[in-house]
Amino acid sequence: MDTHELWQSALGELELKLSKANFTTWFKQTFISLYNDGAVTIGVPNAFTKAWLEKKYHRDITQCLHILSGQGIKQVVYRVETRQGTPQIVPSLEEIAAARKKEAIGYGEMPAFAPAYQIRQEPSSLSSKYTFANFVVGKQNELAHAAAQAVSAQPGGVYNPLFIYGGVGLGKTHLLQAIGADIRAKNPVATILYATCERFTNEFIDSVRNGKAQDFKNRYRNVDVLLLDDIHFITAKERTQEEFFHTFNHLYQNNKQVVITSDRPPKAITGLEQRLISRLTWGMLADVGNPDYETRMAILETKARERNYLLDREVLHLISSAITSNIRELEGALNKVIAFHQFKNIDPSVDSVHGVLSSLQPTQNIRTVTPKHLIETVSVYYDLTIDDLLGKSREKRFAYPRQIVMFLMREEIKSSYPAIGAALGGRDHTTAMHAYDKISTLVDSDEKLQQDLEIIKQRIYAV
Ligand code: ADP
Ligand code: MG
Repeated sequence: MDTHELWQSALGELELKLSKANFTTWFKQTFISLYNDGAVTIGVPNAFTKAWLEKKYHRDITQCLHILSGQGIKQVVYRVETRQGTPQIVPSLEEIAAARKKEAIGYGEMPAFAPAYQIRQEPSSLSSKYTFANFVVGKQNELAHAAAQAVSAQPGGVYNPLFIYGGVGLGKTHLLQAIGADIRAKNPVATILYATCERFTNEFIDSVRNGKAQDFKNRYRNVDVLLLDDIHFITAKERTQEEFFHTFNHLYQNNKQVVITSDRPPKAITGLEQRLISRLTWGMLADVGNPDYETRMAILETKARERNYLLDREVLHLISSAITSNIRELEGALNKVIAFHQFKNIDPSVDSVHGVLSSLQPTQNIRTVTPKHLIETVSVYYDLTIDDLLGKSREKRFAYPRQIVMFLMREEIKSSYPAIGAALGGRDHTTAMHAYDKISTLVDSDEKLQQDLEIIKQRIYAV
């Protein structure tokens, strides 16, 4: 096996272990650059990837190489470099210059920096509510968070553009605004423009209608940082897309930072022109996913503290179990709980909070997980029939998924041990306790198990 084949097989293994977004983000442009007597150097496209691979995936990588090479790996190191002949994420200066020449035609020269007297602070466009300090970091958003911090540490640096995507209410706007707030705090004269795609579109259309297209161009191009929220709304509005394309190019060529959010990755935005898709994927793509239980609890604690309202963990637990896939709704539920108790002037109890929560309109983003749904999901995941999963056989291929069901019923539904035993074909509560203990111990060290649980949970909560 030559080094190329070795790395391709390792990538094949790693791809199975990681989510698609993670895999693509971190491994897309990697390769083995040196392989010598058990020492491997892996070429990576930038320092951020290097740090991330070292921190997060070093063990997996080493293990894979060790097994696949069949000769033992003594050392794996990462080095920022690009393979000759492969395209870089960040285009070369020549490419920028060429693109610039082509696209500058018809668009008069813009000054690269806004003159000081023109600095617009747009106080209304950035909200002081959203900062890094009050953003809770969990597994599902750590990549987006780290990228956002990297961008505000070095605007116009390597992660340009930064493209953050994910479902509704998962913190995209929060991160986008936090980047703006942070850059402004560090550099008060920077021109930062936050706009929703809707506003960008409307202003563009108005400017054309009123013969003020040049004003529009000046406004969006004379900035140091452009934060454009919800770009998926740009769909199929051709002239707006065209305008955005030129705005983007202008900023990019002048090393201005562009950060964009969307409810889906660039490729999946229907009606988006290919050349725009390719621009948007030049820099860094980062996704935000559904918050796990711990993150939901931490978010509720943070928000309750911000409101100066004290709530028991038990109450927080109720709320974070009721709303699992949308942080905005989680916050909304907390607000209702607080408002209700302040209005009635009573202390929150489990019962009263239950009352408030059950009066909330269930939306399609809220899903209460039932034991039945959980059992079905696990049986599909492990390719077992429900009878096998709930049956008497102690064979490992049945017993292990069964224990996983018990563990998840405890973790995700907070069922009692007797209830878990009963749901699993009338087993004793001690069996459920044993299963829970076993899986919770295993999960700390067994990465395959962690991955399995992650996927099963994603499926349970998938709308
Ligand atoms: P999106 O733009 O993805 O739809 P938002 O950024 O508007 O979502 O987030 C919705 C609400 O949830 C906001 O009030 C935001 O402050 C809050 N929120 C989202 N993620 C977090 C987080 N990780 N920590 C704290 N608050 C969060
Ligand atoms: Mg938003």
